[in-house]
Amino acid sequence: MKARLHSVDTLHKARKTSNSWMRIRLNGGSLTVKKFESDALEITIEIDYDKCTGAGECVDVCPTEVFELVDGKSTAPNIDECIECCACVEACPTQAIKHTSC
Ligand code: SF4
Ligand code: SF4
Repeated sequence: MKARLHSVDTLHKARKTSNSWMRIRLNGGSLTVKKFESDALEITIEIDYDKCTGAGECVDVCPTEVFELVDGKSTAPNIDECIECCACVEACPTQAIKHTSC
């Protein structure tokens, strides 16, 4: 089954845009999170783009090539291939990745 990609909806003031981004304003700060979901595996990966440096450690470490860098940020278009090893979460130097299994 094809992975779905959509935004996080945890805060009431979230503004959802057409390309599934959400910007949350908290105490004057800005947080941008992108959420990738696999219906087949019932897992979710969230990437905090305020923390993501785009250096690609997650791309390098993932054994099933879940991640791709797009415009200098990590994306997880192949989430359906995830084997839930948690290597991406452990490798990320800025704790930008949240994975429901890790
Ligand atoms: S390892 Fe973390 S900081 Fe590096 S590209 Fe991946 S998500 Fe971004
Ligand atoms: S948990 Fe493992 S297989 Fe899944 S995205 Fe992270 S590194 Fe890849």
